[in-house]
Amino acid sequence: MSVAVNDLSAARETLSRVFGFPAFRGVQETVVGRVLAGQSTLAVMPTGAGKSLTYQLPAVMLEGTCVVVSPLIALMHDQLRSATANGIRAATLTSADTDRGQTIERFRAGALDLLYIAPERASQPHFRELLESAPLALFAIDEAHCVSEWGHDFRPDYRLLRPLLDSFPSVPRLALTATADAHTRADILDQLGIPSDGLVIAGFDRPNIRYSITPRDNPLRQITRLIEGQPGPGIVYAPTRAGVEKLADQLGATGRTVLPYHAGLAPEVRAANQAAFVASEDMIMVATVAFGMGIDKPDVRFVAHAALPKSIESYYQETGRAGRDGDPAVAMMLWGAEDFARARARLGEMDETRLSGERARLDMLASLVETPRCRRAILLRHFGENPPETCGNCDNCLKPPAVTNVTELARKLLSAVYRTGQAFGFGHVEKVLKGASDERVMQRGHDQLSVFGIVDDEEANLLRPVSRALQARGALVQNEHGGLMLGGEARAILKGEAEVDLIVPKTTEKAPRRRRGG
Ligand code: ADP
Ligand code: ZN
Repeated sequence: MSVAVNDLSAARETLSRVFGFPAFRGVQETVVGRVLAGQSTLAVMPTGAGKSLTYQLPAVMLEGTCVVVSPLIALMHDQLRSATANGIRAATLTSADTDRGQTIERFRAGALDLLYIAPERASQPHFRELLESAPLALFAIDEAHCVSEWGHDFRPDYRLLRPLLDSFPSVPRLALTATADAHTRADILDQLGIPSDGLVIAGFDRPNIRYSITPRDNPLRQITRLIEGQPGPGIVYAPTRAGVEKLADQLGATGRTVLPYHAGLAPEVRAANQAAFVASEDMIMVATVAFGMGIDKPDVRFVAHAALPKSIESYYQETGRAGRDGDPAVAMMLWGAEDFARARARLGEMDETRLSGERARLDMLASLVETPRCRRAILLRHFGENPPETCGNCDNCLKPPAVTNVTELARKLLSAVYRTGQAFGFGHVEKVLKGASDERVMQRGHDQLSVFGIVDDEEANLLRPVSRALQARGALVQNEHGGLMLGGEARAILKGEAEVDLIVPKTTEKAPRRRRGG
C-alpha cells in the first residue's frame, strides 16, 4: 500500500473534497485509519455516528472496489443515492436491478468504488468467481450483528459470508453495527474472522435525549400530552399496523399533521408519507418499526413507543432517531404487562439456540422499565460502558420515584395464583385476594382458600402494578387464555430469596385535568 494512502492527511483531504465535511467525527478517524492500513475491524457505532463514511471514504481512496454487504435492498438504494450524489462510483447488484450486466462490467474493469450486495449472494458459486475476476479493496459488512444468533436480528445468510471472506485473505474486512452487547460483539468477531484487537467502539451516550418510561394507562392521553409539549416533528411507534392506523387517526385530534407508516401501505403511499415527514417541521409520523431505517432527519424532537420495543438494542436504535442535531429531544416509552406476556409467549415458540439469548434480552428490557434508578446508566452499561450512576436527564434522575418494598404482597399474589390452580386471569385472582363475594369465586370454592381475603384495601390498590412488575421479570406468565401461571422467578420470591420493589404509581398523573368554572 502506498504511503500517500496510509496518510491520514490524504484522508482528511478526501473527506473535505468528496464528502464536504471539515473533520472526522468520533471514532471515524480511527476506523478509517485502520482500514487504510489494511487492518480488519469491527466498528460499533451508534446510529447517526456516520458509519457509512468509514467504508465509503477508503473506497474512494483505495484502488479496487469496496464490496458492501447490506441486509436490505431499500437501505442499499438509500446508500447508493447518497454516494452517487457525492460523485462516488457506486452500484447495487440485487435481483431488483435491471442493469446487472453493466454493473458487472464496471466492477471487473475496476470502475466502481462501491458495490452493494445482499448476503444471500455470498453463497452463490458464480459470485465468488465474479469477485476473483475483479480488483477488490475492502469488504464492508453492514448491520454485522445479523451474523450472530445472540444479536437481535439474526440472518442465517450472514453465516455464509465467512468462507467467502476467507477465500480473499489479503482483502481487509470492516464489520459495522450500531447495536451489539459484549456477547454479540465477541460473536461477530468470531463469525467474521476479525481479530479481537480490531474492535473499535464509539461512545453510545446521547446526552440530549431525555428518556422517560411509564406504565401505559391511557396511551392516547399520555402521547397527546407529550405532543402538546413538543411542537417539533416526532415519531410514534406502535406495534401493529392496525395500532398504527388507529393511533394516527386519534392523534389527528391534536391538530397536528399526522401520517401513518407501515408495511401494509402501498409503496408509493409509504414513500410519500416518508418524504412529507422528512420535509416537515412539525409533523407526527405514527409508524411500525419498519419506519426509520436509513432516514436522515436531524431535527426529530421526540420518539414515543406506544408499547414495549423488541429489545434494548431496538429501543436504543429507535429512540436514537430523536435529536440527531444535538438539540434537546424526548424519548418516551409506554409499557404494559401484556407486552411482556406476549414477548414471553413468543419465547415458548423459539428453538433452543435462540432461547437463552432472547430470554436474557427480555430480562434486560424488564430491568430497564422497572428500575427506579437512572435509565441512561442501564442503557450505557448494556453497551459495555461505565457510566455515572445518575445522568440528570431521564425521568428517574429528574424526579426520583418513591420506591416501596412489596415482597410480601407479591408473595400473596403468587400464592393466590398457585392455589387457584394457575388458570385464572388477574381479575379473578384479585377478587379472591380481596375476599370479594363473587359468584364465580364461590362456585369454584375459592372462598375456602387460605388466600381468600388476605389483602386489605391499601394493598389492593397495588395489586395491578405488582402483577405488572412480576410479569415484567418473568415471575408471573400468562397462558394463551390470559390465565396467570408461576414463572421461573416466582420460586425465589416465594422462598424469600428475592425482593420485589415497586415504583409507587404516580396516581396524580392519571387524573384528567378539569376545566375550571365549567
Ligand atoms: P449511521 O449509518 O452510523 O447511522 P450515517 O452514515 O447515515 O450514520 O451518517 C449519519 C449522518 O452523519 C449523515 O447525514 C452523514 O452525512 C453525516 N456525517 C457522517 N460523517 C460526518 C462527518 N465527519 N461530519 C459531519 N457529518 C457527518
Ligand atoms: Zn438518568
